[in-house]
Amino acid sequence: MIVAGNWKMNLGLEDAVSLAADVVRATADNAGDVTVVVCPPAIWLDAVSERVSKSRVALGSQIVLVESSVAFTGEHSVGMLVDVGVSYVIVGHSERRQLFRESSAFGAEKVIAAQNARLVPIVCVGETLEERDAGDAVSTVLDQLAMSLEGTGPSFVVAYEPVWAIGTGRTASPDQAQQMHAAIRSQLASNGHGGVPVLYGGSVKPANAAALFAQRDFDGALVGCASLTADAFAAFVSAAGAAS
Ligand code: PEP
Repeated sequence: MIVAGNWKMNLGLEDAVSLAADVVRATADNAGDVTVVVCPPAIWLDAVSERVSKSRVALGSQIVLVESSVAFTGEHSVGMLVDVGVSYVIVGHSERRQLFRESSAFGAEKVIAAQNARLVPIVCVGETLEERDAGDAVSTVLDQLAMSLEGTGPSFVVAYEPVWAIGTGRTASPDQAQQMHAAIRSQLASNGHGGVPVLYGGSVKPANAAALFAQRDFDGALVGCASLTADAFAAFVSAAGAAS
């Protein structure tokens, strides 16, 4: 099981460092075999890295660029992320797809760069409400997945994040999510990636975590807003531990 917290563009320096310290404390004894990851805003990676180093909490980045050293104003390379102790990178988040027009093909380039630097990409896929209502949810997600993994290697994590559930307070039901996870797992397996963890993200809360984690094809969660409170985040970690 993996529980990763996406802090998005939240928290000032002091609050980010203090949340990192609280997460380290709150998950020190209840994590069991669960992999715990925090993904702060890029500008706080270094400071948060200091707090989580020598703990069982791993560091993830919300952004990454393909090249290691190139004129690309405003971006961060895989080499820079490695230098500050990052081991996971979120790729293809729907906010990047929608707000920055990032395509699945660009995501695949990032996945390859991350894998070459031994970072583990968390590859996000998810359908909009219109696509779900039109009956296209599964085909949309599986197409995104195939494009996001074009030419990539074997080491990655998938996060199914329905766009209509992200930051809306509306979570996919355990049945809806399980159906999609099973479709993702089956596509991964037919491409030789049967063991790849499949996480769920989209308004998960401590109250609905156990029901989601009890589903057969769930390997954890990518948590947004609820990861900004150490106790809530630790509750996901306990729920994941209990389900594994
Ligand atoms: C996310 O942004 O990855 C996410 C899952 O957000 P939230 O939990 O706030 O819906």
